[in-house]
Amino acid sequence: PKPLYADYIQQRIRTVPDWPQPGVQFRDITPLLQDPKTFRLLVDTFVHRYMDMQIDLVAGVDARGFILGSVVAYELNLGFVPIRKKGKLPYLTEAEEYELEYGSATVEIHADACKPGDRVLLVDDLVATGGTMIAAARLLQRLGATVVEAAAIVDLPELGGSRLIAGQGIELYTICD
Ligand code: AMP
Repeated sequence: PKPLYADYIQQRIRTVPDWPQPGVQFRDITPLLQDPKTFRLLVDTFVHRYMDMQIDLVAGVDARGFILGSVVAYELNLGFVPIRKKGKLPYLTEAEEYELEYGSATVEIHADACKPGDRVLLVDDLVATGGTMIAAARLLQRLGATVVEAAAIVDLPELGGSRLIAGQGIELYTICD
């Protein structure tokens, strides 16, 4: 079932056509973050869902997954782990490369970010092709963690990411499309 406040949240996501390149409908969450009531409803929607799932740790994906994930972690009384774009983390890292429409990208995690058996909630703002979420989940799994669920505000189902994520055996929760 659709979360209680899905419409309210969706109304505050702005679609910017042809940004950063022609053909892309960019979903801009800054109006949502800017509005205190909507920001709170969004965070509370995730907190309500995960408060009794025995999560040990929240991981957020560079960069909008940081904004969301860290607040959710704080509210759940949990620690937060950043999964960053290549070259930003200073200590020992694990890296995962994945394909983009043109070229590839790499995400990294600190090697001591979590320990075997940790139950991790993975957070980003949006699922498009699913490549980022799958690469991030692989990093956590490589460190021995269990990805309890991947959570995002928006799924763009026509890009096939949610199907790909499900195909990897990763649970996905999104609020709107
Ligand atoms: P993907 O790996 O294709 O699922 O892309 C997801 C990542 O790219 C997320 O971190 C999003 O923030 C960003 N992203 C991809 N497509 C869009 C879009 N149309 N609007 C906003 N962000 C996007």
